[in-house]
Amino acid sequence: MSEADHRYARQIRFAPLGEAGQRLLRQSRVLLCGCGALGTAIAERLARSGVGALRIVDRDWVEWSNLQRQCLFTERDAAESIPKAVAAAAALQAINSEVDVDPRVEDISYRNLPALAEGCDLILDGTDNFETRFLLNDYAVSQDIAWVHGGCLGAAGQVLGIIPGKTACFRCLIPDPPPAGSVETCDTAGVLAPAVGVVANWQAALALKILSGHGSELDSQLVIIDTWNVESRKLALPRNPNCPCCGQRRFPFLNGTLSSDTNVLCGKNAVQIHLATPVARSTTWSARLREAGEVVENRFFTRLKTPSHTLTIFPDGRVVVEGTTVPATARSVVAQVLGM
Ligand SMILES: [Zn+2]
Repeated sequence: MSEADHRYARQIRFAPLGEAGQRLLRQSRVLLCGCGALGTAIAERLARSGVGALRIVDRDWVEWSNLQRQCLFTERDAAESIPKAVAAAAALQAINSEVDVDPRVEDISYRNLPALAEGCDLILDGTDNFETRFLLNDYAVSQDIAWVHGGCLGAAGQVLGIIPGKTACFRCLIPDPPPAGSVETCDTAGVLAPAVGVVANWQAALALKILSGHGSELDSQLVIIDTWNVESRKLALPRNPNCPCCGQRRFPFLNGTLSSDTNVLCGKNAVQIHLATPVARSTTWSARLREAGEVVENRFFTRLKTPSHTLTIFPDGRVVVEGTTVPATARSVVAQVLGM
């Protein structure tokens, strides 16, 4: 047995996976959308299991309030405001250098998702918002790619494995996004680390099953867990023949009809705005910003602190405005500071 075989010996011994399944895992390419609580736990499992390639997309940086549940990050990552995708990639490469880890510090939208998902065999949901999930569902169904939804709030969570054409899709479960502010978030309801771990592990288990060639065995069902009361249950979820996505094959989140460029960020007193143009950073631009407040710059972003708001400005045109949850206010602040 070679050294490489030995590394995965225990899971190869698990008969349904076996050597054939391990070879398929090795050849597989996974897109992980979001690298927070669920994403870090999923990524750790998949990297240890020996997937071939893992592309990790996340728009945020590590903060102190993340460390309670986001398993790949350290105090140093939070102290240095390292982008989550970058910090996760470093941790994953230390765990398994055989995996091709590709961190992308980007905000997933209908504009960049097709390029991000190019060549991927499976999409995993580590996001924290409905709009991105509807977008992932549109893309996965339209391209006939499997994806695994997971969500977590408080001590509870849910998991749904989606094989387009076979199982129900996300819009069979939830036909339309709920109105903004109508559902609880991790900010209002909190979230426990063990609940995240259970949901992420079930997502990772479904991922191993699908990637090792057993996707056809998935049933169309939603798994609901409650870690506080130590309960789980499975709900049969039949496909909806009138589902706008997998039934009628309409993809408004993917074609941009139902996409916004301004998002209120879950769990933060912040709004994100995606400008139509990238930001050209320069020393004169930085000097101008310093007239408005304190400026911190690194190779990932420029951050401006004014008395009322903090703006984190990414080169790709994305601006996170902290200190408000009102999109119009955020847009005004950006207009005042950036002139756009
Ligand atoms: Zn559907």
